[in-house]
Amino acid sequence: MKLLVIEDERSLLASITRYFRKEHFLCEEATTFEEALEKIENFQYDCIILDINLPGGSGLQLLKFLRQDKKRDGVIIVSARDSLDDKITGLDHGADDYLTKPFHLPELSARVKSLLRRKYNEGSATVDLYGLHIDLTARTVSMGEQPVPLTRLEYDLLVFLITNKNRVVSRQAIAEHLYDGPGDQAPGPEFVYSHIKNLKRKLKEKGCKEIIQTVYGLGYKLAA
Ligand code: CA
Repeated sequence: MKLLVIEDERSLLASITRYFRKEHFLCEEATTFEEALEKIENFQYDCIILDINLPGGSGLQLLKFLRQDKKRDGVIIVSARDSLDDKITGLDHGADDYLTKPFHLPELSARVKSLLRRKYNEGSATVDLYGLHIDLTARTVSMGEQPVPLTRLEYDLLVFLITNKNRVVSRQAIAEHLYDGPGDQAPGPEFVYSHIKNLKRKLKEKGCKEIIQTVYGLGYKLAA
């Protein structure tokens, strides 16, 4: 699961990302309005943690752009402004949740997870598909009684494909989703190809049918 943390307070940003990385999230950071806008326009996130007062502009404006573009990234506003007006404006602009600073990291984490459950699975923390049972809390996958031992990247890849079940996902989108590092060093197609191959093999070994289809020249798609 990929998060974007938009926060200009460096120490808070560092503690949020440290906490979520420990919980196996991929975290990207933005500290200014411009930087955040560029990421929001170019990438897809499972959840965005959004500060309102940013150098260069307002987080609410970012939220407005996001929803105008019909993007579905989950958004949790974290703001020092404890006014009802801000909260209402935020939720009105399409935020999924609102948390007032200061907050405890476990509280933020619980909100993020609950948002992801609502977003992907209408409240349940498990997904059953093609005979696979995926536990989103424990991050485990099984086929019938048999566990499917996936690496972190393979697991994230599978969940990303499931999340985008009805469309073709490009190799580039997958690479950007899986890769956690500086944008200019994002991995090439071989990176995605090898993880797809390993994921397919592991699923097949446990008796799962061929669910990942290659769409020539475009990317990958889950079988209907
Ligand atoms: Ca701020």
